[in-house]
Amino acid sequence: MQRRLAAAWLRDEEAHRRANSEGRNYWDLYIAELCAQMGLSADVIGRDQLATPGTLSRYSCLLLGALEDRPPSMPERQALGDWLEQGGLLIGFNTRGLDGLFGIAPADLPPVPDNPFAQSACVVLGEHRLCQGIRPALHPEQPLLAFGELRPAKVVDAEVVARLVGLDRHCDLGAAVTCRQAGRGWAVYFGFALPHTLWALHQGRPVDRDWDGDGYFRTGDIFVIGDNEIEVPYADHLVWLVENVVALSRLPLIYALPPANDRAATALFYWAGDDEFAAGDQVRASDFMRSLGLPYHINIMYKQGDFSLSPQEGEHIRANGHDYSLHYNFVPSDGFPSAFEFSAADVSQQADAFYERFGVRAYATVNHWLRWTGYAEPARWMSQVGGKGDGSFVHARMPPLDPCDIFGFPFGTSFPFRFYDDWRQGNELLQFVEKPLTGYEMGYSSEATDYTQLHRLLDLTQRQHLMTSLFYHSNRIANIPNCRAAICEVLRYIEEKGLAAKHLSLNGVVRWWFDRLASSVGNVRDGEGGLSLDVVCEHADGLVLRLPVEGGEGAHVRCDGKQCLHEVWQERGRSWLMVVVPQGEHRVEVVGAS
Ligand SMILES: [Zn+2]
Repeated sequence: MQRRLAAAWLRDEEAHRRANSEGRNYWDLYIAELCAQMGLSADVIGRDQLATPGTLSRYSCLLLGALEDRPPSMPERQALGDWLEQGGLLIGFNTRGLDGLFGIAPADLPPVPDNPFAQSACVVLGEHRLCQGIRPALHPEQPLLAFGELRPAKVVDAEVVARLVGLDRHCDLGAAVTCRQAGRGWAVYFGFALPHTLWALHQGRPVDRDWDGDGYFRTGDIFVIGDNEIEVPYADHLVWLVENVVALSRLPLIYALPPANDRAATALFYWAGDDEFAAGDQVRASDFMRSLGLPYHINIMYKQGDFSLSPQEGEHIRANGHDYSLHYNFVPSDGFPSAFEFSAADVSQQADAFYERFGVRAYATVNHWLRWTGYAEPARWMSQVGGKGDGSFVHARMPPLDPCDIFGFPFGTSFPFRFYDDWRQGNELLQFVEKPLTGYEMGYSSEATDYTQLHRLLDLTQRQHLMTSLFYHSNRIANIPNCRAAICEVLRYIEEKGLAAKHLSLNGVVRWWFDRLASSVGNVRDGEGGLSLDVVCEHADGLVLRLPVEGGEGAHVRCDGKQCLHEVWQERGRSWLMVVVPQGEHRVEVVGAS
């Protein structure tokens, strides 16, 4: 018998409208971004479709938010129960009205902060199979974080996957994640607002004050992890947990990293730096990076109507295979009138000046001194002048003003994410991504090299398959021998450890991310003859499918009828078939992988 595998998430339009009209974000909208982060191709269905005959039978995996306005009715519960028994995977985030299906009863409701950007609880991963391989590698004792509403569970007929504890890290609040096998299906409940948590971690809070007190509106004012360990990508860990859950339904995912030399990459590094208006250094830095065979992306600083790069030097950089883009400058010592707000007009003035000088629109950019203002406004303004991504979200707490040789994930992630505007704009999705900095001027100072932190970052990147920024200013590459030595050390270490590393520029990362978002998996059929699916790949270097399998060593994989490249990875408590698919539309068939 053949089963169709497909996922959908439910967008509750009524709850969306009501939340926005009451001055709140519709936080469950971020289930869409969760799916994008996982690389899960998912349809969106409306609240009224939940009980429509035929809707459920089209899907094998359903992701639901709180449904607090209109919990499922008796007929809806019955239909979902039947669907579950027949092999459905039901994933609920704080979902009301389905406790029986999840095998839970509500625990006492803990108080939560009024502030939606304040942490509301801690999530402690258990020994359950679904948690395997996703504990914070460098800080295993650090709990994960929850933001927003809590609805912890008491277990009736389910397994506890993770526990919810109070901000003191001890007081037990109930189950944070539970898992129940029901017939041939699974019901997995999250007793905290995982979509809200991801959104709050990624985009943080509005910069409407100098929250960190460093004298400027900067991206250090945005992040919301408080005093929690900065070396843990909290959002990524939650995404990986949901990936492990989705794997129960055998749905394929599009892996977060592009292929490296026709293999699944185990680590991705992107190379970028700002020029800080230092004339001549841009070309010297670009030539050095080219001599190592590395990509590089230089942000060219605007200063009082001028740039220190000539169009001819820009051509030289491009001929090296490198990118140059705009370094927006809203810093008072360079003539900008305010250390706090800036405006759409300020953004478009500098973007237009860049266009007039170089004849191209800046694609992905970085702001000098990591300046920011408001919430999603700068993202909107930059996208209105042709920008597609920003790399200004900081990697460390500030002060210090310039945190060198430090890595961290204050925004909970090493991956790009799209901006969603706030409730005043209807939570509109902007086609503009943030790729947070994670490593910055690693491995050296002017006086010495020290590779301790650099090696820790490279090891972590490999172990958890992160997208790590190796950010080195062009003026430092050109003038500081220790900086160049640190860059050479990255390549030596990658070689020594045998990493399947992919190297990109910042533009390259953003381009890959949009190509991955535009790619899709569909028409997935699972039967005795094996698994088959259609892939649309929009990226020139191809993409990697991540297929959860048991075993997998004896699998035969065909793409359009021909043998195709694949590897079996053993991690996170199971096997994954990693299949490289080239650009274009393809039919992939897998046999012999149970
Ligand atoms: Zn700068």
